[in-house]
Amino acid sequence: MRLLFRYVLPLLIALPIGFLLLYPQVVRCLRVSRSDDFRAVVVSKQGAPVYVSQTATARQQAQLRKHILTAYDRIGRFWGSKRGQAVLIYCPQQADYEQYCVGGEGAGCSLGTPWGGSYLVLGPDGNNADVIAHELCHDELFTRLGWWRVKRQIPQWFNEGLALMVDYRFSSPAIWEHPDSTQALAPPIDEADAMPFVQRSVVKLSDLETTRDFFGGDYAHVMLAYQTAADEVARWLTTVGRAGVPALTNAIDAGRDFEDAYRELERAKRQPPAR
Ligand SMILES: [Zn+2]
Repeated sequence: MRLLFRYVLPLLIALPIGFLLLYPQVVRCLRVSRSDDFRAVVVSKQGAPVYVSQTATARQQAQLRKHILTAYDRIGRFWGSKRGQAVLIYCPQQADYEQYCVGGEGAGCSLGTPWGGSYLVLGPDGNNADVIAHELCHDELFTRLGWWRVKRQIPQWFNEGLALMVDYRFSSPAIWEHPDSTQALAPPIDEADAMPFVQRSVVKLSDLETTRDFFGGDYAHVMLAYQTAADEVARWLTTVGRAGVPALTNAIDAGRDFEDAYRELERAKRQPPAR
């Protein structure tokens, strides 16, 4: 008991405080509801309030509302239901974005805390349905499995690959939205919006397990990692169908190993019909 009070309790208190000191952006996210620089907007009953920077123009706000509703709808259909309650924070100015997102890179950044809250910060390029749906998909996985389980059990290629299925800069809606359509193999419609892929030697999924494997490299490596992840999850999703996504997370939530559950869902679909 003494050991608990002398060492364990101070450590339990020190860890979260250390975490907050290390990342002032996290503290700002946690306190966004009290900031005068943001106004709370209710976009839909399906989600938490959205905090919009006072610097956003009326046009940016109208676009944001439209893109969030598109993303919520896409997530609801992809997962069967939308359960994530990430708080959205929109910063149209780069300087504000850097105050809320560590590094200030990319169009959006999601921040999950081990104690359950999650924040999705959208930067100047984040007012976009694909960006929002992508980040919300990460949040949905996080909500269903919890921070610890996602970190421990879900390979990064699956986490990213899944998010790319609702991000039409990288994939085609035909993969799951209209699986019977003849354009199933057509490239994304808006070529100008598509990310440029750099053709390079292939990368194995087993080399994309951790965030460091996935993002620790040059631009060409990260783009190749995204494409590899998207290709694999698209292949799997085409076989198991949309219902495979909640089925897989339910299985993992019930204690199954990721790899086993992932392969088994696919095998079950591949079994030839009985004569
Ligand atoms: Zn992602």
